[in-house]
Amino acid sequence: MSQIKKKNVEETRADPLRCPGCKQRYRYGGGIRQPRALGCGHTLCELCIIDKIKEPKSPGNKPEFHCPSCGKEFIVRDASQFPVSWLLVDLLQLAAADTGSCLMHGRPRNLHCISCTTWICQGCTKVNHPIDRCNVQSIEEARSGLRTQQKWDLEQVEETWGDLLQQLQVRNNNFGIFSLLGFFH
Ligand SMILES: [Zn+2]
Ligand SMILES: [Zn+2]
Ligand SMILES: [Zn+2]
Ligand SMILES: [Zn+2]
Repeated sequence: MSQIKKKNVEETRADPLRCPGCKQRYRYGGGIRQPRALGCGHTLCELCIIDKIKEPKSPGNKPEFHCPSCGKEFIVRDASQFPVSWLLVDLLQLAAADTGSCLMHGRPRNLHCISCTTWICQGCTKVNHPIDRCNVQSIEEARSGLRTQQKWDLEQVEETWGDLLQQLQVRNNNFGIFSLLGFFH
């Protein structure tokens, strides 16, 4: 059992943006793959939480759920009783950032359209993502959003960030958006 637990932890560390339950990448923008914080420090996608909620054996008992990583027990009826991990949502958005140029305008895609959940360039805000229709966020805004998260959240994710950045560095061989974000200062 302890070996299984250890394996889970290692796999999660290998890709912190992947759900340790189903090994699928978390998604943002709502839906069943969005990450939810369990309250024991672990995170699971909504589908895995739904999957692991055990109906009570006798009518008087409450439905229970055990964290697959640490075994902590929670009495829950619904996955929505666990809050969405907004910090992971932010990380997912940033990880999805494409540092390449916009094919249409040839400018860096350094703006995040929250409405369309995509990264766009300055030129795109005048064409496909007008201000009256789309909620566009600059990299600076994305960064300050991350930094105003609760302190315990940041401490919890500090290690995650390290792993994530290392991976991205290996994958892309450059720091791209992350150096822009100032995480190496
Ligand atoms: Zn899952
Ligand atoms: Zn746990
Ligand atoms: Zn563009
Ligand atoms: Zn848009």
